[in-house]
Amino acid sequence: MTISNYLACPECDLLLRQVMFKKGETAHCPRCHYLLRKPQNDSILYTLVLSLTGLFLMIPANMLPIMSIKVLGNTQEGTLWGGVLTLFNEGMWAVAIVVFLASMLFPILSILLAFVISAHLYFNRFHRYLMIGLRLLHAIEEWAMLEVYLMGIIVACVKLSSMSELKFGLGLSAFILLLLVSVTLSSHFDSTLFWQKIEQLHLKKQRKQNAHHGQ
Ligand SMILES: [Zn+2]
Repeated sequence: MTISNYLACPECDLLLRQVMFKKGETAHCPRCHYLLRKPQNDSILYTLVLSLTGLFLMIPANMLPIMSIKVLGNTQEGTLWGGVLTLFNEGMWAVAIVVFLASMLFPILSILLAFVISAHLYFNRFHRYLMIGLRLLHAIEEWAMLEVYLMGIIVACVKLSSMSELKFGLGLSAFILLLLVSVTLSSHFDSTLFWQKIEQLHLKKQRKQNAHHGQ
């Protein structure tokens, strides 16, 4: 038996046998009753559908105007990408880079990775890069902070609305929808299930290869 067949309770560090959880089963730590696993049936399908929705929302959220401001008869429209460029041109390149990474690049990457991985698993396709992809997804998720940026937009809007005529654009609606999709996505994401599925597909492929060599 290898060490990978064990897991430690995150709460009390009790070492537990890693068992294959059945569908719809809830698992608690026998010592401290910590909820180790909630039933997340269809997590792979949910992830596939939600990430696909998210990918479509990415385009209007990033490209359509978040808001428009009327100053002296001139209407100025602000997109997320335009905001990043303005920050950069104003010399605030450090802020521009953080905003770009946290509100555009990392969310796009994490939704794209979630889509590619769940599509592979849903259609039972193994690829040796799935493991790296899932690890990368965990790392990126901590840096994708759409909600932080949304707070910034709201604060900016409230400040500006007292000074000028301000209208919210379609981009903001898309952005809020995207935020809801990504929150739902991460709450339905069952990483244990994903790892188990990858392992299963890997073993299946190895067995197939061994059988092939044996002939
Ligand atoms: Zn415990």
